[in-house]
Amino acid sequence: MNRLRLSFSTLGVDAVLVSHLPNILYLCGFSGSAGLLLVDESRATLFTDSRYTFQAREEVHGARVHIAKHGLLRAAGEELKRRRRRRAVAYATSHATVAQKQALDAVVRGKVRWVSDDNAVEKLRAVKDADEIARMRAAALLISDVFRKVLPVIRPGISELDVAAEIEYGIKHGGGSGPSFDTIVACGPRSAWAHARPTSKLLGKSELVVLDQGAILKNYCSDMTRTVFLGRASARVRRMYQAVLQAQEAAKRSIRPGVKAGEVDRAARRTLKRFGLASYFTHSTGHGLGIEVHEMPRLGKGEETVLQEGMVVTVEPGVYLEGLGGIRIEDDVVVTAQGAVDLTTAPRDFLEL
Ligand code: ZN
Ligand code: ZN
Repeated sequence: MNRLRLSFSTLGVDAVLVSHLPNILYLCGFSGSAGLLLVDESRATLFTDSRYTFQAREEVHGARVHIAKHGLLRAAGEELKRRRRRRAVAYATSHATVAQKQALDAVVRGKVRWVSDDNAVEKLRAVKDADEIARMRAAALLISDVFRKVLPVIRPGISELDVAAEIEYGIKHGGGSGPSFDTIVACGPRSAWAHARPTSKLLGKSELVVLDQGAILKNYCSDMTRTVFLGRASARVRRMYQAVLQAQEAAKRSIRPGVKAGEVDRAARRTLKRFGLASYFTHSTGHGLGIEVHEMPRLGKGEETVLQEGMVVTVEPGVYLEGLGGIRIEDDVVVTAQGAVDLTTAPRDFLEL
Protein backbone atom coordinates (compact mmCIF):
# COMPACT_ATOMS: atom_id res chain seq x y z
CA MET A 1 0.00 0.00 0.00
CA ASN A 2 2.85 2.37 0.72
CA ARG A 3 4.32 1.68 -2.72
CA LEU A 4 0.89 2.41 -4.20
CA ARG A 5 0.78 5.73 -2.32
CA LEU A 6 4.05 6.71 -4.01
CA SER A 7 2.18 6.67 -7.35
CA PHE A 8 -0.51 9.13 -6.13
CA SER A 9 1.41 12.20 -7.34
CA THR A 10 2.03 10.72 -10.80
CA LEU A 11 -1.65 9.85 -11.09
CA GLY A 12 -2.63 13.27 -9.70
CA VAL A 13 -4.96 11.79 -7.07
CA ASP A 14 -5.34 11.72 -3.30
CA ALA A 15 -6.89 8.26 -3.11
CA VAL A 16 -7.29 5.02 -5.07
CA LEU A 17 -10.46 2.97 -5.01
CA VAL A 18 -9.49 -0.66 -5.69
CA SER A 19 -12.24 -2.96 -6.95
CA HIS A 20 -10.41 -5.85 -8.62
CA LEU A 21 -10.32 -8.67 -6.03
CA PRO A 22 -6.80 -9.95 -6.85
CA ASN A 23 -5.53 -6.38 -6.29
CA ILE A 24 -7.33 -6.24 -2.93
CA LEU A 25 -5.80 -9.58 -1.93
CA TYR A 26 -2.38 -8.28 -2.91
CA LEU A 27 -2.71 -5.01 -1.01
CA CYS A 28 -4.35 -6.07 2.27
CA GLY A 29 -4.56 -9.88 2.33
CA PHE A 30 -8.36 -10.16 2.07
CA SER A 31 -9.38 -13.22 0.02
CA GLY A 32 -13.20 -12.89 0.12
CA SER A 33 -15.38 -12.60 -2.96
CA ALA A 34 -16.87 -9.16 -2.16
CA GLY A 35 -14.69 -6.17 -1.39
CA LEU A 36 -13.72 -2.62 -2.22
CA LEU A 37 -10.53 -1.09 -0.87
CA LEU A 38 -10.16 2.68 -0.50
CA VAL A 39 -6.51 3.66 -0.09
CA ASP A 40 -6.01 7.22 1.15
CA GLU A 41 -2.77 9.09 1.73
CA SER A 42 -2.64 8.07 5.39
CA ARG A 43 -5.12 5.24 5.84
CA ALA A 44 -7.08 2.52 4.07
CA THR A 45 -10.57 1.05 4.44
CA LEU A 46 -11.81 -2.32 3.24
CA PHE A 47 -15.53 -2.43 2.52
CA THR A 48 -17.05 -5.89 2.61
CA ASP A 49 -20.31 -7.49 3.79
CA SER A 50 -21.40 -9.41 6.90
CA ARG A 51 -20.51 -12.81 5.43
CA TYR A 52 -16.89 -11.80 5.83
CA THR A 53 -16.83 -10.19 9.30
CA PHE A 54 -14.68 -12.89 10.93
CA GLN A 55 -12.62 -13.68 7.87
CA ALA A 56 -11.73 -10.01 7.33
CA ARG A 57 -10.72 -9.66 10.97
CA GLU A 58 -8.32 -12.55 10.52
CA GLU A 59 -6.94 -11.72 7.08
CA VAL A 60 -6.82 -7.95 6.63
CA HIS A 61 -3.72 -5.98 7.52
CA GLY A 62 -3.01 -2.30 6.98
CA ALA A 63 -6.68 -1.34 6.54
CA ARG A 64 -9.67 -0.87 8.80
CA VAL A 65 -12.66 -3.06 7.97
CA HIS A 66 -16.09 -1.57 7.27
CA ILE A 67 -18.97 -4.07 7.11
CA ALA A 68 -21.42 -2.46 4.66
CA LYS A 69 -25.12 -2.92 5.31
CA HIS A 70 -26.49 -1.51 2.04
CA GLY A 71 -23.94 -2.47 -0.55
CA LEU A 72 -20.23 -1.84 -0.91
CA LEU A 73 -20.46 0.85 -3.59
CA ARG A 74 -22.82 2.91 -1.49
CA ALA A 75 -20.64 2.56 1.61
CA ALA A 76 -17.49 3.53 -0.30
CA GLY A 77 -19.30 6.41 -2.01
CA GLU A 78 -20.56 7.76 1.31
CA GLU A 79 -17.07 7.58 2.78
CA LEU A 80 -15.76 9.61 -0.19
CA LYS A 81 -18.56 12.16 0.07
CA ARG A 82 -17.84 12.85 3.73
CA ARG A 83 -14.60 14.70 2.86
CA ARG A 84 -15.01 18.43 2.73
CA ARG A 85 -13.13 19.28 -0.46
CA ARG A 86 -13.65 17.77 -3.88
CA ARG A 87 -11.19 15.01 -4.44
CA ALA A 88 -9.48 13.23 -7.32
CA VAL A 89 -9.81 9.48 -6.92
CA ALA A 90 -8.27 6.83 -9.17
CA TYR A 91 -10.26 3.75 -10.06
CA ALA A 92 -9.64 0.78 -12.34
CA THR A 93 -11.19 1.70 -15.67
CA SER A 94 -10.16 -1.70 -17.04
CA HIS A 95 -12.13 -3.60 -14.36
CA ALA A 96 -15.07 -1.43 -13.24
CA THR A 97 -18.36 -1.73 -15.11
CA VAL A 98 -20.49 1.18 -16.29
CA ALA A 99 -23.16 0.11 -13.78
CA GLN A 100 -20.67 0.28 -10.87
CA LYS A 101 -19.46 3.70 -11.94
CA GLN A 102 -23.04 4.98 -12.18
CA ALA A 103 -23.89 3.58 -8.74
CA LEU A 104 -20.88 5.39 -7.26
CA ASP A 105 -21.73 8.64 -9.05
CA ALA A 106 -25.27 8.49 -7.71
CA VAL A 107 -23.82 8.57 -4.18
CA VAL A 108 -20.90 11.00 -4.50
CA ARG A 109 -22.83 13.50 -6.66
CA GLY A 110 -19.97 15.40 -8.19
CA LYS A 111 -17.80 15.50 -5.06
CA VAL A 112 -15.26 13.18 -6.69
CA ARG A 113 -13.31 13.62 -9.88
CA TRP A 114 -12.59 10.12 -11.21
CA VAL A 115 -9.24 9.37 -12.83
CA SER A 116 -8.02 6.16 -14.49
CA ASP A 117 -5.69 4.24 -12.16
CA ASP A 118 -3.44 3.37 -15.13
CA ASN A 119 -3.10 -0.21 -13.79
CA ALA A 120 -1.07 1.11 -10.85
CA VAL A 121 -1.60 -1.98 -8.68
CA GLU A 122 -1.00 -4.40 -11.57
CA LYS A 123 2.33 -2.67 -12.22
CA LEU A 124 3.36 -3.22 -8.59
CA ARG A 125 2.25 -6.84 -8.75
CA ALA A 126 4.43 -7.53 -11.80
CA VAL A 127 7.57 -7.48 -9.65
CA LYS A 128 7.55 -10.16 -6.97
CA ASP A 129 9.34 -10.05 -3.62
CA ALA A 130 11.22 -12.99 -2.09
CA ASP A 131 8.17 -14.32 -0.25
CA GLU A 132 6.06 -14.28 -3.42
CA ILE A 133 8.80 -16.02 -5.42
CA ALA A 134 9.03 -18.72 -2.73
CA ARG A 135 5.26 -19.30 -3.03
CA MET A 136 5.44 -19.43 -6.81
CA ARG A 137 8.30 -21.91 -6.66
CA ALA A 138 6.14 -24.10 -4.40
CA ALA A 139 3.14 -23.80 -6.77
CA ALA A 140 5.35 -24.73 -9.75
CA LEU A 141 6.81 -27.68 -7.84
CA LEU A 142 3.30 -28.87 -6.93
CA ILE A 143 2.09 -28.96 -10.53
CA SER A 144 5.36 -30.59 -11.66
CA ASP A 145 4.84 -33.36 -9.08
CA VAL A 146 1.20 -33.79 -10.09
CA PHE A 147 2.26 -34.23 -13.73
CA ARG A 148 4.83 -36.88 -12.80
CA LYS A 149 2.20 -38.78 -10.77
CA VAL A 150 -0.43 -38.59 -13.52
CA LEU A 151 1.94 -39.73 -16.32
CA PRO A 152 1.22 -43.48 -15.86
CA VAL A 153 -2.51 -42.99 -16.57
CA ILE A 154 -1.89 -41.10 -19.84
CA ARG A 155 -2.50 -44.11 -22.09
CA PRO A 156 -4.74 -44.95 -25.07
CA GLY A 157 -8.29 -45.64 -23.87
CA ILE A 158 -8.58 -43.02 -21.09
CA SER A 159 -10.67 -39.91 -21.83
CA GLU A 160 -9.36 -36.34 -21.89
CA LEU A 161 -11.77 -35.51 -19.06
CA ASP A 162 -10.51 -38.40 -16.92
CA VAL A 163 -6.92 -37.22 -17.30
CA ALA A 164 -8.00 -33.66 -16.39
CA ALA A 165 -9.85 -35.02 -13.34
CA GLU A 166 -6.72 -36.90 -12.19
CA ILE A 167 -4.69 -33.69 -12.51
CA GLU A 168 -7.20 -31.59 -10.58
CA TYR A 169 -7.51 -34.27 -7.86
CA GLY A 170 -3.72 -34.30 -7.60
CA ILE A 171 -3.63 -30.53 -7.13
CA LYS A 172 -5.97 -30.57 -4.11
CA HIS A 173 -4.48 -33.76 -2.75
CA GLY A 174 -1.08 -32.05 -2.87
CA GLY A 175 -2.28 -29.08 -0.82
CA GLY A 176 -3.27 -26.68 -3.60
CA SER A 177 -6.56 -24.78 -3.27
CA GLY A 178 -7.46 -25.67 -6.86
CA PRO A 179 -6.42 -25.39 -10.49
CA SER A 180 -5.37 -21.91 -11.57
CA PHE A 181 -7.50 -22.32 -14.74
CA ASP A 182 -9.58 -25.09 -16.32
CA THR A 183 -7.11 -27.88 -17.06
CA ILE A 184 -6.51 -28.47 -20.77
CA VAL A 185 -6.10 -32.04 -22.03
CA ALA A 186 -6.40 -32.39 -25.80
CA CYS A 187 -5.41 -35.37 -27.94
CA GLY A 188 -4.93 -36.04 -31.64
CA PRO A 189 -6.04 -33.29 -34.03
CA ARG A 190 -7.71 -31.49 -31.09
CA SER A 191 -4.26 -30.85 -29.63
CA ALA A 192 -3.92 -28.21 -32.38
CA TRP A 193 -6.60 -26.15 -30.62
CA ALA A 194 -4.35 -24.02 -28.45
CA HIS A 195 -7.02 -23.65 -25.76
CA ALA A 196 -9.12 -26.79 -26.09
CA ARG A 197 -11.50 -27.92 -23.35
CA PRO A 198 -11.20 -31.57 -22.38
CA THR A 199 -14.00 -33.82 -23.70
CA SER A 200 -15.05 -37.46 -23.26
CA LYS A 201 -12.93 -38.32 -26.32
CA LEU A 202 -10.61 -41.26 -25.63
CA LEU A 203 -6.87 -40.89 -26.11
CA GLY A 204 -5.77 -42.96 -29.11
CA LYS A 205 -2.56 -44.66 -30.27
CA SER A 206 -0.04 -42.56 -32.23
CA GLU A 207 -1.53 -39.27 -31.03
CA LEU A 208 -0.06 -36.11 -29.60
CA VAL A 209 -1.53 -35.07 -26.23
CA VAL A 210 -1.21 -31.48 -24.97
CA LEU A 211 -1.65 -31.03 -21.21
CA ASP A 212 -1.81 -27.47 -19.87
CA GLN A 213 -2.29 -27.28 -16.11
CA GLY A 214 -1.64 -25.08 -13.12
CA ALA A 215 -2.16 -25.04 -9.37
CA ILE A 216 -3.01 -22.29 -6.90
CA LEU A 217 -0.99 -22.69 -3.73
CA LYS A 218 -1.09 -20.05 -0.96
CA ASN A 219 -2.83 -17.65 -3.40
CA TYR A 220 -0.18 -17.93 -6.14
CA CYS A 221 -0.53 -19.65 -9.51
CA SER A 222 1.60 -21.97 -11.56
CA ASP A 223 1.04 -22.67 -15.26
CA MET A 224 2.74 -25.50 -17.15
CA THR A 225 2.26 -27.27 -20.48
CA ARG A 226 3.69 -30.61 -21.53
CA THR A 227 3.12 -32.47 -24.80
CA VAL A 228 3.52 -36.24 -24.95
CA PHE A 229 3.10 -38.81 -27.73
CA LEU A 230 1.28 -42.12 -27.36
CA GLY A 231 3.53 -44.66 -29.10
CA ARG A 232 6.49 -44.03 -31.39
CA ALA A 233 6.43 -40.66 -33.08
CA SER A 234 7.41 -40.03 -36.69
CA ALA A 235 10.63 -38.21 -37.51
CA ARG A 236 8.53 -35.18 -38.49
CA VAL A 237 6.80 -34.97 -35.11
CA ARG A 238 10.09 -35.45 -33.26
CA ARG A 239 11.66 -32.65 -35.27
CA MET A 240 8.69 -30.40 -34.49
CA TYR A 241 9.10 -31.12 -30.79
CA GLN A 242 12.82 -30.30 -30.91
CA ALA A 243 12.01 -27.04 -32.71
CA VAL A 244 9.58 -25.97 -29.98
CA LEU A 245 12.00 -27.01 -27.23
CA GLN A 246 14.84 -25.06 -28.87
CA ALA A 247 12.54 -22.05 -29.31
CA GLN A 248 11.72 -22.21 -25.61
CA GLU A 249 15.40 -22.46 -24.68
CA ALA A 250 16.28 -19.50 -26.92
CA ALA A 251 13.49 -17.43 -25.36
CA LYS A 252 14.70 -18.30 -21.84
CA ARG A 253 18.29 -17.41 -22.76
CA SER A 254 17.16 -13.98 -23.97
CA ILE A 255 15.56 -13.14 -20.59
CA ARG A 256 17.43 -10.77 -18.28
CA PRO A 257 16.70 -7.46 -16.55
CA GLY A 258 16.63 -4.56 -19.04
CA VAL A 259 15.46 -6.60 -22.03
CA LYS A 260 12.15 -5.68 -23.67
CA ALA A 261 9.38 -8.30 -23.44
CA GLY A 262 9.09 -8.27 -27.25
CA GLU A 263 12.73 -9.41 -27.55
CA VAL A 264 11.90 -12.66 -25.76
CA ASP A 265 9.04 -13.30 -28.16
CA ARG A 266 11.35 -12.60 -31.09
CA ALA A 267 13.95 -15.10 -29.85
CA ALA A 268 11.33 -17.88 -29.86
CA ARG A 269 10.02 -16.93 -33.31
CA ARG A 270 13.51 -16.73 -34.80
CA THR A 271 14.22 -20.33 -33.79
CA LEU A 272 10.92 -21.64 -35.17
CA LYS A 273 11.62 -19.81 -38.42
CA ARG A 274 14.86 -21.78 -38.83
CA PHE A 275 12.72 -24.95 -38.74
CA GLY A 276 10.17 -23.47 -41.17
CA LEU A 277 7.52 -23.50 -38.43
CA ALA A 278 7.14 -19.80 -37.57
CA SER A 279 3.72 -19.50 -39.24
CA TYR A 280 2.33 -22.28 -37.00
CA PHE A 281 3.15 -20.36 -33.80
CA THR A 282 -0.10 -18.45 -33.37
CA HIS A 283 0.03 -16.91 -29.89
CA SER A 284 2.45 -14.89 -27.79
CA THR A 285 5.51 -16.46 -26.14
CA GLY A 286 4.42 -15.96 -22.55
CA HIS A 287 2.79 -13.88 -19.86
CA GLY A 288 3.32 -12.69 -16.32
CA LEU A 289 2.02 -14.93 -13.56
CA GLY A 290 1.23 -14.42 -9.88
CA ILE A 291 -2.03 -14.08 -7.96
CA GLU A 292 -3.66 -14.35 -11.38
CA VAL A 293 -2.70 -16.71 -14.14
CA HIS A 294 -2.38 -13.87 -16.65
CA GLU A 295 -0.63 -10.76 -15.39
CA MET A 296 1.78 -8.15 -16.64
CA PRO A 297 4.06 -8.30 -18.56
CA ARG A 298 2.91 -9.96 -21.78
CA LEU A 299 5.75 -11.52 -23.78
CA GLY A 300 4.31 -10.75 -27.20
CA LYS A 301 5.34 -9.27 -30.53
CA GLY A 302 6.64 -5.73 -30.17
CA GLU A 303 5.92 -5.48 -26.41
CA GLU A 304 7.90 -2.55 -25.00
CA THR A 305 7.70 -3.46 -21.29
CA VAL A 306 11.22 -3.77 -19.89
CA LEU A 307 11.87 -6.92 -17.86
CA GLN A 308 12.91 -6.39 -14.25
CA GLU A 309 14.45 -8.60 -11.63
CA GLY A 310 11.68 -10.35 -9.69
CA MET A 311 9.21 -10.66 -12.56
CA VAL A 312 7.78 -14.15 -13.00
CA VAL A 313 6.73 -15.12 -16.53
CA THR A 314 5.77 -18.17 -18.51
CA VAL A 315 7.73 -19.20 -21.61
CA GLU A 316 5.43 -21.23 -23.84
CA PRO A 317 6.08 -21.38 -27.57
CA GLY A 318 3.95 -23.85 -29.55
CA VAL A 319 3.18 -25.00 -33.06
CA TYR A 320 -0.27 -26.08 -34.24
CA LEU A 321 -0.88 -28.00 -37.48
CA GLU A 322 -4.45 -28.57 -38.53
CA GLY A 323 -5.23 -32.29 -38.75
CA LEU A 324 -1.93 -33.37 -37.21
CA GLY A 325 -1.99 -31.74 -33.78
CA GLY A 326 -0.16 -29.27 -31.58
CA ILE A 327 2.99 -29.13 -29.50
CA ARG A 328 3.51 -26.64 -26.68
CA ILE A 329 6.07 -26.60 -23.87
CA GLU A 330 5.48 -24.13 -21.05
CA ASP A 331 7.55 -23.37 -17.98
CA ASP A 332 7.44 -20.66 -15.31
CA VAL A 333 10.65 -18.69 -14.81
CA VAL A 334 11.77 -15.88 -12.54
CA VAL A 335 13.85 -13.01 -13.93
CA THR A 336 17.11 -12.67 -11.95
CA ALA A 337 20.31 -10.66 -12.46
CA GLN A 338 21.81 -13.87 -13.87
CA GLY A 339 18.91 -14.42 -16.30
CA ALA A 340 15.87 -16.70 -16.28
CA VAL A 341 15.71 -19.29 -13.49
CA ASP A 342 13.25 -22.17 -13.94
CA LEU A 343 10.57 -22.67 -11.29
CA THR A 344 8.97 -25.61 -13.15
CA THR A 345 10.75 -28.90 -12.51
CA ALA A 346 8.81 -31.43 -14.65
CA PRO A 347 10.88 -33.12 -17.40
CA ARG A 348 10.67 -31.44 -20.78
CA ASP A 349 12.26 -34.17 -22.95
CA PHE A 350 9.95 -35.66 -25.56
CA LEU A 351 8.02 -38.43 -23.81
CA GLU A 352 6.81 -41.28 -26.04
CA LEU A 353 4.51 -43.26 -23.75
ZN1 ZN B 1 -0.65 -22.80 -19.62
ZN1 ZN C 1 0.32 -19.81 -19.87
